[in-house]
Amino acid sequence: MTNPSSDFTLTFDNRFTEALPADPITGSARRQVLSSCYSFVKPTSVSSPTLVAYSKEVATQIGLSEQDCQSTLFTDVFAGNSELEGMQHYAQCYGGHQFGNWAGQLGDGRAINLGEVINNDGEHFCLQLKGSGETPYSRTADGLAVLRSSVREFLCSEAMFHLGVPTTRALSLVTTGEDVVRDMFYDGRPEKEPGAIVCRVAPSFLRFGSYQIFTSRDDLTTLKTLVDHTINTEFPHLGAPSVEVYIEWFKEVTERTAEMIAHWMRVGFVHGVMNTDNMSILGLTIDYGPYGWLENYDPNWTPNTTDATNKRYRFNNQSPIAQWNLLQLANAIYPLIEQAEPLRDILTHYVEHYNQTVQAMRAQKLGMEHYDDALHQSLHEVLQLAETDMTLFYRLLANVDLESQQTDEQLLAPLMNAYYDLDSLTDEYKQAIYKWLRRYQLAINNEGVSNQQRQQRMNKVNPKYVLRNYLAQLAIDDAEKGDFDLVNTLLECLRHPYDEQPDMERFSEKRPDWARVRAGCSMLSCSS
Ligand code: AMP
Ligand code: MG
Repeated sequence: MTNPSSDFTLTFDNRFTEALPADPITGSARRQVLSSCYSFVKPTSVSSPTLVAYSKEVATQIGLSEQDCQSTLFTDVFAGNSELEGMQHYAQCYGGHQFGNWAGQLGDGRAINLGEVINNDGEHFCLQLKGSGETPYSRTADGLAVLRSSVREFLCSEAMFHLGVPTTRALSLVTTGEDVVRDMFYDGRPEKEPGAIVCRVAPSFLRFGSYQIFTSRDDLTTLKTLVDHTINTEFPHLGAPSVEVYIEWFKEVTERTAEMIAHWMRVGFVHGVMNTDNMSILGLTIDYGPYGWLENYDPNWTPNTTDATNKRYRFNNQSPIAQWNLLQLANAIYPLIEQAEPLRDILTHYVEHYNQTVQAMRAQKLGMEHYDDALHQSLHEVLQLAETDMTLFYRLLANVDLESQQTDEQLLAPLMNAYYDLDSLTDEYKQAIYKWLRRYQLAINNEGVSNQQRQQRMNKVNPKYVLRNYLAQLAIDDAEKGDFDLVNTLLECLRHPYDEQPDMERFSEKRPDWARVRAGCSMLSCSS
């Protein structure tokens, strides 16, 4: 895949490191880093980097051609072996609440930033290698990432982008040629796995925990410097930082967060680890770990085995958790504002904004102009009566003919492929789904929406292709054997999630039985 002859450059404008205080100590010795937003630290070189995949859209955005991406230099740079002129390597300091408890300093334990690229349109993109060695924030861990979790992050962040969900992006995925030892299920059976590095790309990787850390240390000077920098660079439309602008900023962060969660609910995404260090200040989906996609519609599902008991981060709890996380951010910035009421009002506004957004989204998923709460609630119940694939159900619902005279059986027929077990469709179940379909038909006819109009609307918001958990696992199985075709084919398929792609039909199929209990398909741990 690589072509040694091509060379390229990137233009860097490292606003973060230029404006913000640096840790005076360099190197990766573990330490508490005080009064600094980051530490200078270089990636660890790897022995034998190989390019697995790259995103051509992200490459274009930062000014790289496909030829550039296929060069030896590209693989070397994004494996951390070569440095381009203008790059600045650093790891960010942040803290966070993990599973509801304050965890103190966390930071980029296995992420090393390469600096900020500026493209021809003047847009900034931070590049960040995930899995390229130890930093001061690595605590007891190795700073590395395995191929399994890197394939998952690479494919999912690109899939989310093409689904229209706010997210960090991924430029590249390389294997390092080195083994990494992981105890995948924390059960005392460590194994060697291939190491890999993803280059993540986002306008900023700042998280709620980036602000929390300074407040927790009573370092209001650095807190203010960081907040002002964030507003100046990422929220310039709000104007020069002031108390009023801090409040407006918090409001915008809550709205963006609400909109991101509404998108997750639309596509059936469960993040799995919504700790405050994994909440982007830009409202982007960030840190793809033990995430999962709802297959059968189970609002209480969480993919994360570490969270199996309390299910704090289950599908249906994502909005309340986002609000809880925003409350922690409010606490963190309170010292700059010193008024509780506006912050409290904004947290209340979060719920209103989320409800409004999610209701509009639910109406769209049904092809309707107006949200009908009773219709939605009854669907929410019916979908749980029999194992029903969420993605297929909504996609197929667009094919149901609501215009002509249909028997109950005819109405249901297009939906049959959404069910995991046809034998479980009892008469009682059938009566419930018929009843719901008739209600739906009435609501649609009252709005005067034609079949065609409805299908067009629905197919824009109900994807045909998502990164089903078992698909990611199949790509991982092949990649671990050195075959990267499926990673690349899935990447291609997921670039057009709303289109019918006849040659990709197999990737729209519901979870096969073997995947029901297989590790990596239905249950994931934080080990990555
Ligand atoms: P996460 O659960 O991925 O959000 O990570 C939580 C914290 O643990 C962050 O500070 C990470 O940088 C750190 N971390 C996770 N895995 C590793 C690793 N293999 N080496 C060093 N730090 C890690
Ligand atoms: Mg994290």
